[in-house]
Amino acid sequence: MTEMYNTKNAGVRRLMQEAKELSKPTEMYHAQPMEDNLFEWHFTIRGTIGTDFEGGIYHGRIIFPADYPMKPPNLILLTPNGRFELNKKICLSISGYHPETWLPSWSIRTALLALVGFLPSSPAGALGSLDYPPKERKRLAKLSADWKCKECGCLMKDALLPITEDGQSKVNEEAKKLATQVKFQDESVLKQQETATEETVERQEENETAETTVAVEASRETGTPNEPVLSESVHTEVPTPVTTSESMVQEPNQEQSSQLSHQLTARQLPSSNFDWSLLLKIPLALLCVAVFIILLARRVFVENESALRDVSEL
Ligand SMILES: [Zn+2]
Repeated sequence: MTEMYNTKNAGVRRLMQEAKELSKPTEMYHAQPMEDNLFEWHFTIRGTIGTDFEGGIYHGRIIFPADYPMKPPNLILLTPNGRFELNKKICLSISGYHPETWLPSWSIRTALLALVGFLPSSPAGALGSLDYPPKERKRLAKLSADWKCKECGCLMKDALLPITEDGQSKVNEEAKKLATQVKFQDESVLKQQETATEETVERQEENETAETTVAVEASRETGTPNEPVLSESVHTEVPTPVTTSESMVQEPNQEQSSQLSHQLTARQLPSSNFDWSLLLKIPLALLCVAVFIILLARRVFVENESALRDVSEL
């Protein structure tokens, strides 16, 4: 695998490092890259005790963007679970307003634990979510042990280490905490939110520009990547557990205030909104026009000259 990829690429190095760290299955999760593609992994997670997913072992795919870990991975569940639709990308983000925000310091482990913690949360009608009754979810959980992945051949009941109560309670606390920070949604929901109103999109774009500028400036000053800006978004998160995905959308007081603060930042940096590339584009356009005129004039001149020559030859 090492020879196939450019090990100077940060994403490749990071994925290889994570593959090494996750090489052995734990009680709660396991994930490894596909043999022929470092940017696609298969994972297995265990449903938590005391929920409808107790006893369930679920398998899925992780698709990494080329610029991982700057952008989050997408998760796709393959095992019937009654909470998420199968074969659909589950997007992972800190908030619906900033689906692009994800901490590069987060890892595959973070994403998997957050998904474990997110399984028992209420789907609240979000697209891509399933609201199967507890009885059906429990039935699917029981069936999942015999589920086998057609692609990697992984059999669920053999995929993870046997569960011990101590091991699970430790991981569960972390999973629950992460589930309140991370948001999982179907891709179409994010798109819907983005195009909800033009105003929102405009505001989002404004924020994005401001954020990027701030991030670039911060990295120029401190030499660190986007993290300071991104972590700001995390600190504005609601500390109390959020049980439904829609409640985050409908009552985004904290988010709105952070949104406002972003807008303020955008206004405080009016020069940053000026498109500096115009300074280059305008002279370039003028130059093109000048060259065109010169060529045209030359052609007319040459034609005139040959006409004159013809006349004089006559
Ligand atoms: Zn598989």
